[in-house]
Amino acid sequence: MISFILNLPWTILGVLAGIVSIPKKFQGNKNPFALVFTVKSFWWYTWQPKMRGARAMTIGHVVLLSPNILEHDLEHELIHVEQAVRIPLIHPVLYAIESFRKGYRENKYEKEAYGRAGNIYIEK
Ligand SMILES: [Zn+2]
Repeated sequence: MISFILNLPWTILGVLAGIVSIPKKFQGNKNPFALVFTVKSFWWYTWQPKMRGARAMTIGHVVLLSPNILEHDLEHELIHVEQAVRIPLIHPVLYAIESFRKGYRENKYEKEAYGRAGNIYIEK
């Protein structure tokens, strides 16, 4: 509960990202608590052109799934929600530092998510 409150700014940002990504379907997830939107595209992700082709993303307790998702991508994103519950508020900052230092695939948060969900990474 306390994590959910601390993560609220990110969750609100996630809902806004969901709206601009053109939501097509919505579902709730109980454990961890998450709002899951199936969206049309991440067209707005312009500062990192590679990311426009991302299959899914998580912002706070919001999971955004693109039409290109593969098997276990939802499980992968829900692990990022769990990480945000474990490390509330500052998780996105730690994630960004980790990505900056090690790159996306060697980021420990991604390693955990790919390892536990068993989904695959496809280089663009
Ligand atoms: Zn991930």
